[in-house]
Amino acid sequence: MATVETKPSDAPRAAELLRNLKSKDGVYLMYIDGEWAAASDGGTRDLINPANGEVFAKVAEGTKEDAERAIRAAHRAFYEGSWGDSLALDRARLLFRLAEKIDEHAAELSRIETLNNGKPLRETEYDMADAANCFRYYAGLATKPGGETFDVPAASQTFVVREPIGVCGQIIPWNYPLLMAAWKLAPALAAGNVCILKPSELTPLTALRLATWIEELEFPKGVVNIVVGAGPVVGHTIAASDLVDKVAFTGGTKTGRAIMQAATGNLKKISLELGGKSPNIVFADADFNTAVDYALFGIFANAGQVCSAGSRLLVEESIADKFVNAVVERAKKIKVGDGFDPSAEMGPLISRAHEERVEGYIKAGVAEGATLACGGKRLPGELGEKGNFIEPTVFTHTKPDMKIVQEEIFGPVLVVQTFADEKEAVKLANDTIYGLAGAVFTNDVAKAHRVIRKLRAGITWINTYHPTYNEAPWGGYKQSGIGRELGTYGYEAYTEVKQINVNLAVEPSGWFSS
Ligand code: NDP
Repeated sequence: MATVETKPSDAPRAAELLRNLKSKDGVYLMYIDGEWAAASDGGTRDLINPANGEVFAKVAEGTKEDAERAIRAAHRAFYEGSWGDSLALDRARLLFRLAEKIDEHAAELSRIETLNNGKPLRETEYDMADAANCFRYYAGLATKPGGETFDVPAASQTFVVREPIGVCGQIIPWNYPLLMAAWKLAPALAAGNVCILKPSELTPLTALRLATWIEELEFPKGVVNIVVGAGPVVGHTIAASDLVDKVAFTGGTKTGRAIMQAATGNLKKISLELGGKSPNIVFADADFNTAVDYALFGIFANAGQVCSAGSRLLVEESIADKFVNAVVERAKKIKVGDGFDPSAEMGPLISRAHEERVEGYIKAGVAEGATLACGGKRLPGELGEKGNFIEPTVFTHTKPDMKIVQEEIFGPVLVVQTFADEKEAVKLANDTIYGLAGAVFTNDVAKAHRVIRKLRAGITWINTYHPTYNEAPWGGYKQSGIGRELGTYGYEAYTEVKQINVNLAVEPSGWFSS
């Protein structure tokens, strides 16, 4: 196992890095109703660097009352304020400016993200550019044509307009903190909604930095509120509130189910982007080196903490030994280390609790009889003692009903399955409760298309893994979610559809006798 040793001097001093966030008495504040706020009960939470276990900052820990205050502010901003009637062009201008701010401050933001989330700088740098582009994409979309007209069998003109849904609660996870904030805020604001965003309590900092520009650019008060706090408190309050018109969530399937249940009170609209156990299918005729490369990228990017990770590698039997050996040899060489170290290729897991959860799955895999081909342990030395580092791990000789094959591990753990032919590949690929993503590697173009069309999944690739774009819809089949984010689909998910019928012959109908 190659590792990167971290010197204390590698990490920037957190206080210096976070100097542009708003704080009071050493506590970073939330943004509610256009003001910076401590928690109503003064509560705080320690933020921990996943690479070394050190507390590097304190942030306000919002309460139910804080969430309710933010909801009321958003409600006022939409139903009594001007945002709902604002010009698309004005909203677009603000979103373009936000994108510029992210670009201008990309170095600062990516460092905050690496400090808070742990992932290597090369990943957070990519995420920041992606987040800026997301705001830019929706800024552009805000002013594009959106309605429809219909020819109807009467002297009437019927047309359709899209209008904002209203108050949107948005609950996001820790694996792509600023990018997930962008995926939620950009389409919602472009369409004229108001937002209460709840970042993960583990990784709130880049969203709070974003709020400094929301203030500076003079978004009207209450249009964007960022409330930090525990999911079952702040997140649940948002999901259950009768004043919230829509809740959008990205995270685990279990939490998604709880949010869906909480949302039934006022039948609010819901969008859920949940977990996956996505198959990466490699046929014997694939370009060998490309398929090996993407098998690694599919699972070990962001240490496997990706909803669409290629966590099941399905390999055709005839090449399985050679292919898996190549994957294992390269997995052993991945440089695991502190995200600030430029040579680190894979960072830590988000928290000690999550690391233990992943270790639990590794133990379960061994206990169920799968073969541990590499990894499976916490990193040796200081990195592993202080940080949440797990070695890149590959299991072979699995069975379809094993826990490690069926459940989302959300860590650097790849499970290998083998198949005899195309039919079996498709059967195995679809054999989980999830349907988020999937890929096929083959040089047979017809086979690639046949297999992709059989996958019960919303995001798919041929001869690649992971690249997706703001322009295209993102979301899953089966228990991987409800609805789509990104692209025009993501925009439409933040709109209501209204039909308008205009009588072109203004005279009494004569239906009732006069
Ligand atoms: P969660 O799904 O629980 O967390 C995601 C967000 O939901 C966080 O902001 C969290 O708040 C919030 N939340 C938690 N409980 C509730 C609730 N009852 N009502 C409203 N909001 C709530 O993810 P975890 O961090 O607990 O991870 C558990 C598993 O979920 C992972 O191991 C992984 O399998 C999966 N996951 C999937 C993700 C994806 O991208 N699809 C992303 C993250 C996790 P809080 O700040 O308190 O955590």
